[in-house]
Amino acid sequence: MRRTIFLALLLSLLALPALADTIVLKSGRRISATNVVEEGDRIYFETPSGRLSFPKSAVERIERGGESAWGASGSADSKTVDLAAAQPTANPAEGNEEVLRTTVKDGALDRNYIAKLESDAQGGAAQAVAKVIAALHAAAQFELKNGNVDEAVVHYRRALSFAPQHVGVLLSIAHLHLRKSEFTASLEYLERANRAAPDDADVARLMGWAYYGMNKIEQAAREFKRAFALRPDVATQQALLKAQRDLETEEKFKRNESAHFKLSYDGEADPGLAREVLKRLEEHFTRIESGLNYSPTDSIGVILYTAQAFRNVTRAPGWAGALNDGRIRVPVQGLSSMTPELSRTLKHELTHSFVFQKTRGHCPVWLNEGIAQFLEGERGGEYALDLIEVSEKKMGVSLAMLEGSWMGLSGGGALYAYAWSLAAVEYMVQSNGMSDIARLLDRLATEPSPEAALRSVLRTTYPELDAETIKYLKKTYQR
Ligand SMILES: [Zn+2]
Repeated sequence: MRRTIFLALLLSLLALPALADTIVLKSGRRISATNVVEEGDRIYFETPSGRLSFPKSAVERIERGGESAWGASGSADSKTVDLAAAQPTANPAEGNEEVLRTTVKDGALDRNYIAKLESDAQGGAAQAVAKVIAALHAAAQFELKNGNVDEAVVHYRRALSFAPQHVGVLLSIAHLHLRKSEFTASLEYLERANRAAPDDADVARLMGWAYYGMNKIEQAAREFKRAFALRPDVATQQALLKAQRDLETEEKFKRNESAHFKLSYDGEADPGLAREVLKRLEEHFTRIESGLNYSPTDSIGVILYTAQAFRNVTRAPGWAGALNDGRIRVPVQGLSSMTPELSRTLKHELTHSFVFQKTRGHCPVWLNEGIAQFLEGERGGEYALDLIEVSEKKMGVSLAMLEGSWMGLSGGGALYAYAWSLAAVEYMVQSNGMSDIARLLDRLATEPSPEAALRSVLRTTYPELDAETIKYLKKTYQR
């Protein structure tokens, strides 16, 4: 039976590449990547050219397996603002279309023309001010088309110096700050606009999005409601529904905290279980801390889910029991107290958090999974003979092939990948000790590739590590 699974997995390893996620940047650029995880204020991911990261503020959304998962995750940090829906409808250049055409000509800004309009407007005559605002709006739009958001803000600020209460300009600046996830700054301009025009639907709607980005969902819903009353349209209706859905979801989550963890759990989970989970996590924390000679600086997010919610939230393939994508996500349906399996799962996932922070996201998956299994107490005996046989039939896969995401592996493929990774880590610990694993993790943070780190710490290469691991399995488990 096991052997059949092993053969199935080998095929699947070759046939199924890891499922790629798509990172959609606010600039509109789309990047295909695997192992996309959120850590602090950055998004880390794998590409063929290595592990990279973006500031979260540059990322519009992440599409997982064709579906957008980020932002719908019920996460309690910052929310993804729908920038298209938050676009103001007011046009600061209304009635001055000829100024727009004169300001941008032949793909360039006519700065002399803008300077002339600015000097005309010094006296404060209404028509001259309207013209300079139209010109600066055109200049800002020109910069935006070229991706220069900061330049665009400068033009709008200049426009405000001529008309400090101009609602269209205030809305435009506020929207640009939303684009940069600068929600507090956005809100400052919106409050100014709100004082100038207390019954403006656009102002209310953008205030809704600013609050939404700050994760103040109640205020967001209140502003969306006000916007909808002032001007009922579909975009506002959708925004209001989204905020209300988020409110309902978050009401179901309750919170708990300990020295190193922030725990949220589904309202139906047992509060006693949550306390036990935190206590156990703190015990594991101390052990892993000394094993890996490292203390994570940030507190670690843990979410307990019913099995159903776990699937919905993570879209993990069927073989994944729990998941660590920056937060530890653990399904606990049907549990009312700590079990040995739950304790091991917590230790396994917690190890991933340590490894991620210690290597700054540069750990190959095989090493990460090998260490997590080893520290949770797994040993390689169970599959040793299968691994030896696969290797002798020349059907083995090098650990080098298991550096990237495993999310696309079949159940059999995952079984092999886990067993092979555990065997390699067990071999490394037995021959070099845990302290070398800790040093290897440090090197991964700085070396250009995992193999370079292997070479510098363990003086080994992937082919040697593959061969030595099989030799170790034969010596230890073959009788
Ligand atoms: Zn794992």
